[in-house]
Amino acid sequence: MISAINGEARALKSIDMHVHVVGNGSGGTGCWLRVSRWHRPLASLMLRHIGLPPGAMSGNLDRLYVARLLEQVRTSSLGAVVILAQDLVYGERGAPVEGAGSFYVPNDYVLELARQYPEFLPAVSIHPARPDALAELDRCLEGGAVMMKCLPNCQNINCNDRRFTRFWERMAEAKLPLLAHTGGEHTVPVVCREYSDPRILTLPLECGVTVIAAHCATKSGIFDPEYFHVFAEMTHRFPNLYGDTSAFNVPIRGRHIPKCLREPLLQRMVHGSDYPVPVHGHFAWMRGVVDWKTFRQWEPQSNILERDYQLKSAMGFPPETFTRIHRILRTANKRTMGPLLAS
Ligand SMILES: [Zn+2]
Repeated sequence: MISAINGEARALKSIDMHVHVVGNGSGGTGCWLRVSRWHRPLASLMLRHIGLPPGAMSGNLDRLYVARLLEQVRTSSLGAVVILAQDLVYGERGAPVEGAGSFYVPNDYVLELARQYPEFLPAVSIHPARPDALAELDRCLEGGAVMMKCLPNCQNINCNDRRFTRFWERMAEAKLPLLAHTGGEHTVPVVCREYSDPRILTLPLECGVTVIAAHCATKSGIFDPEYFHVFAEMTHRFPNLYGDTSAFNVPIRGRHIPKCLREPLLQRMVHGSDYPVPVHGHFAWMRGVVDWKTFRQWEPQSNILERDYQLKSAMGFPPETFTRIHRILRTANKRTMGPLLAS
């Protein structure tokens, strides 16, 4: 059994399933970015970290960002990355909340990028309270969406609201998985703190949706509540629940890496970086999950997709962690997934 799985992992290319696309609309993409005074230094740090010039934020960000991302995927060990759209914040009655949210990435933009480049797989973002949510879901399925992304705490989504049952059932029927942010968040403003709890995902799980809890519900800031144990307990109850390793190379989120590396939880792990969130090996080295030589070898690597991939491999995440997502993503779109089989 084990060798069959290893064989499968070897035949498939590795995928980073948690990569953000951002833009300021400069390329007519419909994206927008609203960076508060407090977040400005963090935003410029992230741009510098991925190798973009300081003026990119107010310049032709859309084109520069995609070009840099493509270059990094092509020079990495990855076959593809899942790029994430970002919907607006909606209120209970299904109207957008004015002035809320810090960035927006339209579904059509990620769908179009994926049509242009086989290295990109499109994850759309649909707030289920939108009056047109079901129609938009069908439109995105038609357009080749492989996953749906949402941030319940930042987009104000009570996934357990019974009004959304039909929406989750439609996702389950279409075999479209849900990537949902869980745990604390400090790069995007939080609207509803209680929705950081992975139990917010119970209804979609009960409806049969395959759900990936981003960051395995780990805390991001020192004062965030800890939900990792809640996530781990839920994986016993729900065979359709997974967790991603995204942002495990930032100071606090990596605390539970040793537990994620243990069976049976390890079988629920999928690889994601949370690009452009910074990747530094210092924390993994200080926790003893990578050795000094590994840290010194990969820290100078300027391609942070590759740095993240190599650090996670060195931590002991096996090849299946990087290919398991092939079985989870909606593959109705064979044209998209075809080139991802190793040649
Ligand atoms: Zn993210």
